[in-house]
Amino acid sequence: MENDYDVAVIGSGVGGICAAALLAHRGYRTLLAEGLDRWGGRLSTVEKEGFRLPTGAILLHRDGPLERVFKEVGVRFEVVNLPKTLHCRVKSTDHRITLGNPFTFINMMRSLGMPARESLRVGAALSWEIGKAGFLRAAEKVLKHYLPRGSRPTFREWLLKYTDNDTLHGIFDTVIVAVLACRAWELPASEFFAYMTGLGTLAEAGIAPQGNLELVRGLVRVVEKNGEAWLRSPVRRIVVSGGQARGIEVEREGKVFTVTSKVVISDSGPRRTVELAGAENFGMKYIRDMRVRLRAGPAVLVLVGSERPLLPEDAHFMIIAGARRIVCAGDVSILCPDLAPPGRHLSYYCGYPLNSLVPMETEWERAQCTRDLEENFPEIKTCGEVIHMGFHDVHSDFPGARAWPGYDMPAETPIKNLFNVGEGVRAPGWSGTNKAAKTAWEVAEMASRKLSRT
Ligand SMILES: Cc1cc2nc3c(=O)[nH]c(=O)nc-3n(C[C@H](O)[C@H](O)[C@H](O)COP(=O)(O)OP(=O)(O)OC[C@H]3O[C@@H](n4cnc5c(N)ncnc54)[C@H](O)[C@@H]3O)c2cc1C
Repeated sequence: MENDYDVAVIGSGVGGICAAALLAHRGYRTLLAEGLDRWGGRLSTVEKEGFRLPTGAILLHRDGPLERVFKEVGVRFEVVNLPKTLHCRVKSTDHRITLGNPFTFINMMRSLGMPARESLRVGAALSWEIGKAGFLRAAEKVLKHYLPRGSRPTFREWLLKYTDNDTLHGIFDTVIVAVLACRAWELPASEFFAYMTGLGTLAEAGIAPQGNLELVRGLVRVVEKNGEAWLRSPVRRIVVSGGQARGIEVEREGKVFTVTSKVVISDSGPRRTVELAGAENFGMKYIRDMRVRLRAGPAVLVLVGSERPLLPEDAHFMIIAGARRIVCAGDVSILCPDLAPPGRHLSYYCGYPLNSLVPMETEWERAQCTRDLEENFPEIKTCGEVIHMGFHDVHSDFPGARAWPGYDMPAETPIKNLFNVGEGVRAPGWSGTNKAAKTAWEVAEMASRKLSRT
């Protein structure tokens, strides 16, 4: 076993595994240390009763930073695309909306019965703001630091300028919480517009047909070609001396080893990184910023096995506006039959508490989600069974989102050669797996520059 690497990466979530694969592929000796007995963090698979269950992410957006990592390192990004129709259930009535054109939102408002004039007014204002956000993102890249933000109205406050239609507010809140894990009355409007510039007009998305774990294993193999990838190896400490990261202490088979490296990359989340490296090494300003800024988002993931499909025939992905907690659902095994045992179906349902700031009351949230499921999908009672209900709370190891957009931390830390990656790190315009992958790209660039100088 070697104990000297160019790069040591802590954690194999999307951010960690993408950064490790990119750097190994570029020729740097890389160690990837994962504390659990499976790769991928919230992009992984656990097997139960013959089902391949996701540990978090289900829909993977195409053509974003995640797919680009696979292309760069020469691994096939095997996902089955969803049809470009969004099934939208509003107040028990189902609507179908075609995605992927500039008029998606206007179409959505029109098909939900909003008057043409109001739809156009909101649609035009939204297009203007998304265009402006695109320009600001480009400017941010050139200026290399954050532009002054000024006052930050929430999305709900922004929308109220144009309409007080409750149904429309409900739909936007549903879309926002489903993709960003915080509510329209919590999220700064500018962050939603920035997100829309990355996503275009709700871009194509797909599902990994053999489960997420199979997908991330391809990246592990890239790391192994130019380094090592260890499971069941929790990192206990980041070694810091003279204001610089020098390596990690990692536990393997009951023993703690010290591994030296020129760069350390942590995918354990900014808070855990501080614990691992020692708060005293970060300075008061960083710790204070982190305390004020970092806000995780909660989520409840319900996975149901059934004898027959429980969702409307073409609802590979549906949003549900106006329910208590459940905002989106989908049948994954129609497109990807290998995720369920022969003859059975696997569907998922995501619920979100109304307040994303405070820890959830688990039993209350369970009851709310259960009532939503019974009302919207009554067949669950007769031919389905809940095989998993996961509470991804704000302080858990695997929250719904490690940070709301705009409430995340920079990748660089005050400790030289120590970087954070993953969903807790700022990447304007991206969310979920693409956000984590985007941070990996940026950190791989910074680390490559440092390593090429040594
Ligand atoms: C219910 C739910 C549904 C979601 N749906 C979607 C979706 O449909 N599409 C989408 O794009 N995104 C979705 N997401 C978000 C997506 O899962 C995350 O954005 C992404 O997987 C986060 O990756 P990450 O890099 O932050 O790492 P994480 O997933 O947080 O993984 C971190 C890894 O680091 C390891 N680790 C931590 N500390 C140590 C240590 N000391 N030593 C060694 N290892 C350590 C952990 O064990 C873990 O494996 C969903 C999330 C949830 C919870």
